[in-house]
Amino acid sequence: MTDHILHLKCLICGKTYAPDEIAYVCPDHGAEGIVDVQYDYDLIGRRISQGDLLYNTNYTIWRYKPLLPINRDSKVPPLTVGWTPLYRTRRLAAELGLKQLWVKDDGRLPTASFKDRASAIAVIKAQEQQATMIAVASTGNAAAALSGLCASVGQPNIIFVPETAPPAKIAQLLVFGSQVILVKGSYDDAFELCLQAAAKYGWYNRNTGYNPYMTEGKKTVSYEICEQLGWRAPDRIFVSVGDGCIIGGIHKGLTDLLELGWINRMPKLMGVQAAGSAYLYEAWQNGEDVLIKPPIKATTIADSISAGLPRDRLKAMRAVRETQGAFISVTDKEILAAIPALARPTGIFAEPAGAAAYAGLVKAVNEGLVSANERIVVINTGNGLKDVASAMTAVQQIGTQAQRVEPSLAALERIIL
Ligand SMILES: *Cc1c(COP(=O)(O)O)cnc(C)c1O
Ligand SMILES: [Zn+2]
Repeated sequence: MTDHILHLKCLICGKTYAPDEIAYVCPDHGAEGIVDVQYDYDLIGRRISQGDLLYNTNYTIWRYKPLLPINRDSKVPPLTVGWTPLYRTRRLAAELGLKQLWVKDDGRLPTASFKDRASAIAVIKAQEQQATMIAVASTGNAAAALSGLCASVGQPNIIFVPETAPPAKIAQLLVFGSQVILVKGSYDDAFELCLQAAAKYGWYNRNTGYNPYMTEGKKTVSYEICEQLGWRAPDRIFVSVGDGCIIGGIHKGLTDLLELGWINRMPKLMGVQAAGSAYLYEAWQNGEDVLIKPPIKATTIADSISAGLPRDRLKAMRAVRETQGAFISVTDKEILAAIPALARPTGIFAEPAGAAAYAGLVKAVNEGLVSANERIVVINTGNGLKDVASAMTAVQQIGTQAQRVEPSLAALERIIL
């Protein structure tokens, strides 16, 4: 029923496994042994064509179901995931001296971040295996996404987040009815605890960079971007990077489209990291091997991309190297500045990790890394309402504030004229 999957291939040793042979990673390397889902593109090409999509009115990620690692007859969750707007942003482009710039707004997904794309797949995979419980460790958004998607199908779930996660994200978990474990430690601590507990109690594990199917949900953004651009792939895609699962997924989606012959060239992938959590940027700059580079201590206001040891570092490195892209590092100050800078000419309100992608574009333009004629896509991965405290800091940083007034016209005129 998943006859379109050839095998799962270990990124470290290249060994292949049948999909039902291993649950998550290559057993030869512990939690590091991330595998890639490999497909029979001939078979997929016979099941779905670009022509079919023209007449498909299902505007969710499920319009690409034959390209996803799920059974053909599996039921999909009812929340609408996918087909977020790809805005052509002319004023923003003009400010940067660019001609063609789009923003893909994944802050519009049901739980307000990109992670819904992956969690939707996790819920289906868990239900295919009749899992009684799904677990995840997350900086907040993957948790909220799993929590919301589970609520939509009545699936019990348990969530491990660092106790420092922004309150809005924790509120989402509690509202959706998850069992919430606030870990006194970092995301990396939460990740380890979740791994151990899931293994011990037999829970289905959604962890990023461990569960191979999360990349497969995230890749749908590439299908959408290319379809929304009439199958003319952009020249570059900017996205922020923490664990590296999103950028790996973007690369996977583009690879699928190239294999199917639906696009004819690979965009350059630009991974933007926070300077305080720049493991991959450093490794890329210095030519370090990410299999032996030790963890760093991560601190950034962009909590969603704070990762001391990026779990999907192999896929992320490959995404940037194989596409002749680049990693870019931006400071917290630049990230905060990017929130209003992106919002004011577009109406798109991003959380810090979402705005980081735009901060990366600004830096790339200033450093002459992109040329004016390129067709560029920036992905906003999370909604600004996820982290109101950072948004308030951002506007204070540029000297914007509300004006208080007594409720009379005379008083109003004294301040606005
Ligand atoms: C998770 C997340 C990212 C980074 O994705 P990785 O797969 O960890 O690289 C970026 N932005 C937001 C808003 C996120 O939630
Ligand atoms: Zn292996």
